[in-house]
Amino acid sequence: MIYDAIVVGGGPAGLMASNMLQSQKINYLLLEKNERVGKKILLTGGKRCNVTNNLSVDQFIQSLNMKHKRFLYHALNQFGTRDVVDFFKEKGLNLLLENNFKYFPETHQSQSVVDALLKGIDSNRIVLTTSLKSVTYENEIFELETNQGHYQCKKLLITTGSKAYPSVGSSGDGIRFAQFLGVNTIPFTPAETYVYSDQIKDHFRFWQGIAIEKTTVKILGTPITHHGDLLFTHFGLSGPVILHASEDIYHALLKGKNQIAFPLIHQSEEELRSFMIQKGLEKSFILQVIETLTPHKVAQGIVQSILGSNKRINEISKKDLQLIISALTAFTVKIDRVESIERAFVNAGGVDVSTLDPKSMSVKKIPALYFAGEVTDLQGPIGGFNMTIALSTGRLAASHIAESIKKDRLESV
Ligand SMILES: Cc1cc2nc3c(=O)[nH]c(=O)nc-3n(C[C@H](O)[C@H](O)[C@H](O)COP(=O)(O)OP(=O)(O)OC[C@H]3O[C@@H](n4cnc5c(N)ncnc54)[C@H](O)[C@@H]3O)c2cc1C
Repeated sequence: MIYDAIVVGGGPAGLMASNMLQSQKINYLLLEKNERVGKKILLTGGKRCNVTNNLSVDQFIQSLNMKHKRFLYHALNQFGTRDVVDFFKEKGLNLLLENNFKYFPETHQSQSVVDALLKGIDSNRIVLTTSLKSVTYENEIFELETNQGHYQCKKLLITTGSKAYPSVGSSGDGIRFAQFLGVNTIPFTPAETYVYSDQIKDHFRFWQGIAIEKTTVKILGTPITHHGDLLFTHFGLSGPVILHASEDIYHALLKGKNQIAFPLIHQSEEELRSFMIQKGLEKSFILQVIETLTPHKVAQGIVQSILGSNKRINEISKKDLQLIISALTAFTVKIDRVESIERAFVNAGGVDVSTLDPKSMSVKKIPALYFAGEVTDLQGPIGGFNMTIALSTGRLAASHIAESIKKDRLESV
């Protein structure tokens, strides 16, 4: 049988696309290599799945770190964060707003997100344990070779995800299919992940668990800065600002720029200097002075690393005082590596979106071929952005597939 459409990959993009194809009565199949669909969804948001957030389309796009972020306007205008919430409500799953930003299912279980997505799909349309191995396109028909046999279809949507967390199925296969079909791709790289620093591990390990709120991370030697909360770990750095900066840090490391700097306190260098040299503080111990501005362990780490031991302010040389001020206002960390592609939460890279039509997610030079979700070079920070991108682009692709199949049917009558 020649199917009207085949969707390859049962993550949020493929499941949302299948919902749309089902509702439009399209003769389609969803091929999934695992023994169940949505395995990655189960891991998301600490197994609670941060499905989306409450940002408008403009705010959503502004929050992204990609040069080509405007590509997403059309998909999000068609199906944005509000539509995601309404979709799940229609399927019987309320999403609740947390911290006036992120939406999670009322059940606090990722499984209920998968269940809700499955409600709109006829189970006979899902073919499990079926891994696409290769694909060709000739005479307007896609020929798909899988481990379970051969399939044919008129429209093909690839939603196989990135290389992040291959244990749940996303092993980067989509890139291979794209390349084979002559579609440009950009190598996957880690994004939204931790960074490792021997300097922190060896000398500031006892800062583990300390958060620096609302700081600004600067990648030295570049104009790049990121703002947000930072967390010290036993191996290096984490927290939203580091996760968001990790993709840029990765690329900076490749160019030999391996240092980042961020303030440990909220005072400027000038304010701190005036504070430290003010009358009456000369005989105070530096540790106790710094402790009024930053957690005890941070103050202790700075004093130990620069002075060796606690001293009165009037016993500290000008040079050492300046070193302390610099460390507190622009603490410099040498980064040794960024977490691997496989262990990053998300990957940058994938199908080059300049080869896709943003109004349909189809390949400009092969209009019957579509890509959606993380297999494309579209990704966002943590906070429900990536689920939303997958759901929104999967839906856009499927609605366009349904439209063009209906048009073809009318033309052939
Ligand atoms: C630990 C973790 C936590 C996360 N938390 C959140 C969160 O809370 N909120 C958020 O917005 N984002 C989160 N993300 C990111 C989000 O999960 C992904 O961006 C999203 O799942 C991408 O959806 P997708 O449909 O494009 O791909 P995937 O979810 O990766 O799905 C791809 C599917 O394709 C299948 N497949 C792959 N190759 C083949 C093949 N050759 N043949 C057949 N099937 C194939 C895979 O088995 C898989 O089921 C998290 C990611 C991780 C790893």
